[in-house]
Amino acid sequence: MTDRRGLLIVLSGPSGVGKGTVRAAIFENNIFNYVYSVSATTRKMRPGEQDGVDYYYVTRSHFEELIRHDKLLEYAEYVGNYYGTPIEKIEENLAKGKDVFLEIEVQGALKVRERMSEGIFIFLAPPNLHELESRIIGRGTDDMAVIYERMQKAREEIEMMKHYDYVVVNDQVSNAVQKVNAIIQSEHLKVDRV
Ligand code: 5GP
Repeated sequence: MTDRRGLLIVLSGPSGVGKGTVRAAIFENNIFNYVYSVSATTRKMRPGEQDGVDYYYVTRSHFEELIRHDKLLEYAEYVGNYYGTPIEKIEENLAKGKDVFLEIEVQGALKVRERMSEGIFIFLAPPNLHELESRIIGRGTDDMAVIYERMQKAREEIEMMKHYDYVVVNDQVSNAVQKVNAIIQSEHLKVDRV
């Protein structure tokens, strides 16, 4: 039982649904010792964020080099910026039996599904679209054009829910955290993993 691979957990869903908040709450205690996969991005650092913790902030040409050298498990261009998942540490940690946790947008999650279908794909859904819009606006980090673009994208992304293994409605962060942890715990108890 000690030499089994870790689980690849993909938390995804539309922008503004609260993926970042749910992920931060999960990692606040991190009672199950998940390893967070820090993504690379070309977007600017927001106040309070840290390089190497929230993202690796890279230039566009650096990012394109990562693509060329096949260093990314997946990447997506999202609202004018690149976001991608560095592959190396993921493989390393899974091989050591550690659970690796990804928090990425929908396009990227579907690409991961193609390459690593054994992953556990969890769709974080908003209670409704109206609420999603207020969350995106309330965050106050985007201008109106970006908000509009994010909303359009959110509608398309909600359609993609059917490609996931689980849906967790983010009505309350603590509930969502509990559900995500419960899903992972039950995946660990599957007969073919024990
Ligand atoms: P934000 O700019 O708000 O931090 O992130 C924008 C979107 O990019 C969010 O939906 C976030 O989950 C997603 N994202 C973060 N890292 C990655 C990644 O490595 N790959 C993909 N495809 N999406 C990511």
